[in-house]
Amino acid sequence: MDLKSLIRDIPDFPKPGILFRDITTLLRDPEGLRYTIDFLTQKCVESGIQADYIVGMEARGFIFGPPLAYQLGAGFIPVRKRGKLPAAVHTIEYELEYGTDSLEVHQDALQPGSRVLIVDDLIATGGTAIATAKLLQKIGCELVGFGFIIELRDLQGRKYLPDVPIISLIEY
Ligand code: IMP
Repeated sequence: MDLKSLIRDIPDFPKPGILFRDITTLLRDPEGLRYTIDFLTQKCVESGIQADYIVGMEARGFIFGPPLAYQLGAGFIPVRKRGKLPAAVHTIEYELEYGTDSLEVHQDALQPGSRVLIVDDLIATGGTAIATAKLLQKIGCELVGFGFIIELRDLQGRKYLPDVPIISLIEY
């Protein structure tokens, strides 16, 4: 299936000069949605990934993470922006183009040795994925892979990621 044809390009969003890859048009297509989840699952299985938990980042990692977790027989754990999770959290700060941001995960969600697969809709510079990986490694989790629907190859985000399987379905 030609998944790229279901992704909509929005110029100058959220800032002038940025071409935003919009996955909402993929999500609303019943066959496209099913194919995307099945393809992601298949690639994880083929890579030999065995995860206890899928960790998804706010906000679009929450869309693809849970159905993948369901398919792989894993649990789903949300990583959220600062101040959104109700119980005690671990926090990691990371650099943005201007300033810093932080990501949080519940302290009791993961244990040292938990096998985790990080899932998001898209990898660009890799900053979000690296911050999430560091947050999980701080806890002592075993990172078993990354899964993305879209990879922006020019930005070379994957070269900054740890040496584990990195799956992406669509490349630009
Ligand atoms: P990175 O941290 O530079 O790799 O950017 C990836 C993060 O920004 C992910 O959480 C994406 O959801 C979001 N993102 C960046 N560019 C796009 C885009 O073109 N479409 C959708 N999400 C994007």
